[in-house]
Amino acid sequence: MKKIDKIYEGKAKILYTTEDPDLLIQHFKDDATAFNAQKKGTIQEKGIMNNRISAKIFEYLGTQGISTHFVKMLSDRDMLIKKVTIVPIEVIVRNRAAGSMCRMLGVTEGFQLASPVLEFCYKNDGLGDPVINEYHIQALNLATDAEVKGISRMALAINGHLKKFFLKLNIELIDFKLEFGRYHGDIILADEISPDTCRLWEVGTGNKLDKDRFRRDLGNIEEAYQEVLRRVTS
Ligand code: UDP
Repeated sequence: MKKIDKIYEGKAKILYTTEDPDLLIQHFKDDATAFNAQKKGTIQEKGIMNNRISAKIFEYLGTQGISTHFVKMLSDRDMLIKKVTIVPIEVIVRNRAAGSMCRMLGVTEGFQLASPVLEFCYKNDGLGDPVINEYHIQALNLATDAEVKGISRMALAINGHLKKFFLKLNIELIDFKLEFGRYHGDIILADEISPDTCRLWEVGTGNKLDKDRFRRDLGNIEEAYQEVLRRVTS
């Protein structure tokens, strides 16, 4: 499968059309951004690592009955995916407080939540992806009621699967972001799942194995991504 036209370029990925109108190629770049793109940089070979990590996770979720856009890996940085219409909502699932939840609610980083928190953000870079609720989603026609119910159910199921998956690798899943797409009348999981979109803490040490190393200049960024890749593919 070959790339034909570039149809989208985001912060970390590029999408290309293919000869099959139902399929796209998702290309992973090394570019990294944080704080709504105010901080920019590159993480060496991040694209290669995130492509592999995402592929492994999508494959695993597929075995657990979660429909995803993943078709197959094509090369180091390219994966073949189903062409979806992205629902303009970022879905965040949290198991411990971190990041914006600490800033918003004044809780300490690492606070163990009594139950998972599901959060929706309006996917709009110009506005900095503001937090919204089901009423905003309905009122702005971002998704139907049935879609929101389906997305919520899938996001919580994915959390259960991923918590187990990472725990076996001695990694605790703190929080993560998902995006969903419409595909022939169904809602399927899209985008990527990687250390760019998850907070991953090593069990025991609490070592951060995710993009917080870049956000906060903690050093050993490449090594942390490499370590996640090593464990995920072990
Ligand atoms: N996240 C993401 N993309 C975004 C915003 C958040 O992948 O545009 C991920 C982030 O890496 C973390 C989780 O979603 O794993 C929760 O992020 P949070 O709301 O705490 O925002 P942050 O403090 O990272 O800006």
